[in-house]
Amino acid sequence: MIDLRSDTTTQPSVAMRSQMANAPVGDDVFGDDPSVNALQDRVASLTGKESALLLPSGTQSNLVALLAHCQRGEEYLVGQEYHTYQYEAGGAAVFGSIQPQPIPVSADGSLDLDLVRSRIKPDDPHFAMTRLLVLENTHNGKVLGLDYMGQAYEFARRHGLLLHLDGARVFNAATELGVGVKEIVRHVDSVSVCFSKGLGAPVGSVLCGSGPFIAAAKRWRKMAGGGLRQAGVLAAAIDYALDHHVDRLRYDHAHAKRIAQALSEIDAITLISSQTNMVFIELSDDDIGVKLGQFLAERGVNVLGGKRMRLVTHLDISAADTDTVIFLFREFFAS
Ligand SMILES: *Cc1c(COP(=O)(O)O)cnc(C)c1O
Repeated sequence: MIDLRSDTTTQPSVAMRSQMANAPVGDDVFGDDPSVNALQDRVASLTGKESALLLPSGTQSNLVALLAHCQRGEEYLVGQEYHTYQYEAGGAAVFGSIQPQPIPVSADGSLDLDLVRSRIKPDDPHFAMTRLLVLENTHNGKVLGLDYMGQAYEFARRHGLLLHLDGARVFNAATELGVGVKEIVRHVDSVSVCFSKGLGAPVGSVLCGSGPFIAAAKRWRKMAGGGLRQAGVLAAAIDYALDHHVDRLRYDHAHAKRIAQALSEIDAITLISSQTNMVFIELSDDDIGVKLGQFLAERGVNVLGGKRMRLVTHLDISAADTDTVIFLFREFFAS
């Protein structure tokens, strides 16, 4: 099966599983797991932050970050289509009594800082207290550049806001920009990184920030049920991913680019956007999308069908798979 639904569908390789099986472990709730401790140190150093914390998912990592940054009755400014607003089941509001203030996302995936400024609440008992700005990099595959990140950080500082980055795919952003992740996240107070996306680990996100921030996050993680015991088996998978799956992200980007290029030459397809490992296309209607989805599924290619389609490349999609996908799209629209 060639699975283009998401970069979360990757299978842990034999070598990754072997590293997991052989990891030294301990009870991480006691701080005893050497593999977790080493991984947290490694990711803290990679991101240039003081401390890091392993969590079971990106959703929990973002939730814990919001809970650690904001008190009850405070507010975070966030993109309307960002994961931390739209796809995390309202967790910050449910568990933290933290109010989201959604902002429409610009075409390039950023938030217009003038628009953000207009949403910062004055110090007045009518309003929630605006505490935090949340960005997402990459957003729908789109990379926020270093200039923008720097401007956003200055903006946040000027307005007394903290800045959290949902960096679920920040390694994709770093690959595209040709810089280390550290260069991107020096402009934020905290960052959450997913290892279960393009980096191919089965489980795990790491939250990074200052020592006191991570200490607070650790208590929230416990409360959210994210304190794990012999989590070193998961840390070992992430360690493996950092050793073997970072440099190869450029192949995913190249494969996405080839797919986008080929599909843009098909009349019935409108290319919406293509950056890093994601291609968004639009078809004339839902019906065609469903038919295309069925046609592809019968030939071993899995997509999320509909008028609008997202195709995601990852480490289980080879160059040959890319050719197959292009061939099948051409064949469908030729008939
Ligand atoms: C996947 C993702 C997350 C976290 O998702 P989990 O499935 O909970 O690990 C957060 N932000 C973005 C942008 C994501 O794509």
